Amino acid sequence: MHRTQRENSYSSERGAYYPAQDVNLHTHCYYCRHGSGEVSDYIRIAKERGLKVLGMSDHAPVPDGRWPLSRMTMSELPSYFADVIQGQQDQGMIVLRAMECDYLPEYHGYYQQELLGTWGCDYLVGSVHTVDMPYAKDVNLHQSPLSKAELVQYAKQYIDMLSSGLFLFGAHPDVFGCSYLTWDKEAEACSRAILEAAVELRIPLEINGNGFRRAKVAGCNGPKTPYPIVEFWNLAAQYDVMVMTNSDAHVPKDVDASFTDSSALAATCGLSFAGLRLSERDAAAKVTLSYETSPKQTLAGPVSSKGFTKELPAIIQPAFV
Ligand SMILES: [Zn+2]
Ligand SMILES: [Zn+2]
Repeated sequence: MHRTQRENSYSSERGAYYPAQDVNLHTHCYYCRHGSGEVSDYIRIAKERGLKVLGMSDHAPVPDGRWPLSRMTMSELPSYFADVIQGQQDQGMIVLRAMECDYLPEYHGYYQQELLGTWGCDYLVGSVHTVDMPYAKDVNLHQSPLSKAELVQYAKQYIDMLSSGLFLFGAHPDVFGCSYLTWDKEAEACSRAILEAAVELRIPLEINGNGFRRAKVAGCNGPKTPYPIVEFWNLAAQYDVMVMTNSDAHVPKDVDASFTDSSALAATCGLSFAGLRLSERDAAAKVTLSYETSPKQTLAGPVSSKGFTKELPAIIQPAFV
């Protein structure tokens, strides 16, 4: 749903505005098996560091047990949400209930009905960490050298995720830089397709702080961060795209990490971060979240329900698909 001018003029009624440096909506913990620390540890340190809004968003399990090495089991969902709710009650700061979800159409109903419905998540983080090819399921973007065909599939799955209407923002859209090390015409075309979808659907994209803390990869001009990819965000500056940032913490001390690096990259590329507009909880304990480029201007709604059907650029279709 797009915001209207009338809604803009009543912005103060939609809740408080939090600038990017006061917010982290992408946070993991020990449940995902590759993070550490209790939910309460993240909340405590977030408060000590002066964050105003913390979203706990550990990796979502799926009913068929896919990706078991990097996420909690379905049976751990009650305990995870109980920890987050406990933190909301005890710690005196704004803590939001969320999960980071690998989007595939077969999980759409589960994410919508169970995570947003039954479990009452305040928002979901949309991600793509693996791609499905005819010859291999779950090609891991963090581990495999990515082929051009796999890069195209990544862009398709990422655009499907944005188009689903389930997610508050798209996480690390340039994570393909872990395993696709060159910035060539295919990388640019796939990036443009993702950016165009984000603009059309009015969904913010994330400069992900965790990429700054990862081991460097071999770029054309020497070692570089796997992501964020500077060329991607330079390209983003050509679009009317909403950009936000999160630490993507996997250990408590990183709960506010890498904001300086993300800010420097954004400034280099001529981008500025959107802030978060967050309502009070209503009688049904629901909050409304939206992103704004400034306290007075709303450019993105909470979640778009509009489909996006744009094909990937023709430049990469004939040769690689
Ligand atoms: Zn992720
Ligand atoms: Zn994450």
